Amino acid sequence: MSSSSSPVPDPERVSELSENLTRIRSRVQDLSRDKPRTLVAVSKYKPASDVLACHQNENGQLDFGENYVQELVEKAAQLPLEIRWHFIGTLQSNKAKTLAAIPNLHTIQTLTSIKAATALNKALPTTRTFPLNILIQVNTSGELSKSGLPPLSSSEDNTQDEELTKLASFIIKKCPKLRLQGLMTIGALEQSMDHEHENKDFERLSQTKEELESWLRSSESDVGKDSWGSDGRLLLSMGMSSDYEEALEAGSDIVRVGTGIFGSRRMK
Ligand SMILES: *Cc1c(COP(=O)(O)O)cnc(C)c1O
Repeated sequence: MSSSSSPVPDPERVSELSENLTRIRSRVQDLSRDKPRTLVAVSKYKPASDVLACHQNENGQLDFGENYVQELVEKAAQLPLEIRWHFIGTLQSNKAKTLAAIPNLHTIQTLTSIKAATALNKALPTTRTFPLNILIQVNTSGELSKSGLPPLSSSEDNTQDEELTKLASFIIKKCPKLRLQGLMTIGALEQSMDHEHENKDFERLSQTKEELESWLRSSESDVGKDSWGSDGRLLLSMGMSSDYEEALEAGSDIVRVGTGIFGSRRMK
């Protein structure tokens, strides 16, 4: 992939992507209930021409998600600057510099450490006119294969000592180039395949959000109410192709849909 060649989508693929995108956007719209929701189109392993087709579509898709730093760097270099890139992969602090150099990097959805927050805040160029949005990844299912910090529970009174609370407070107080916007989770596959019952991971993320919001609003946290979130609320990013509808019903603000838009992916 060279950064000078511009990606040209072929007409059949354009109409296929357009159909998928229109169908999913209208489901998101139907389930939105007047609350603004964001559909992130997850384009990992898919060519830049697919992204361009969705962006130039009548829907003008703006938000795209990528999991791998190098793939994101290459696509971002070939595609329009209006695109809002979301990094949704495992974040290593030694990659912070490479990510921070992408001018239209909009959100990091997978922050889990003070080390990575520090590296990002340091690496972001001062020429950037808007802060980099941050979601902290929470491991709601507790699976060892998933990254993320442990969720908060309402029965405990040591909220200030939790890793999640400490990271949130560090971002707000020590990282002026970052803005803490909310929380993200993937959740267990069994929960996302079970369409009969409430998704426990979505419930856990919502509860964690409430706990963190109330802590941030308390005098204990020592942060202003305008220094985090969006209109005094933290956002939730949960829901993928198999469960974005349930996620929207459970109050998700951001859904991340790959397969449903782009079709299945080859395995890595
Ligand atoms: C790949 C990926 C998605 C999209 O998954 P689909 O099931 O293809 O919709 C969403 N979120 C994360 C974190 C991912 O890695």
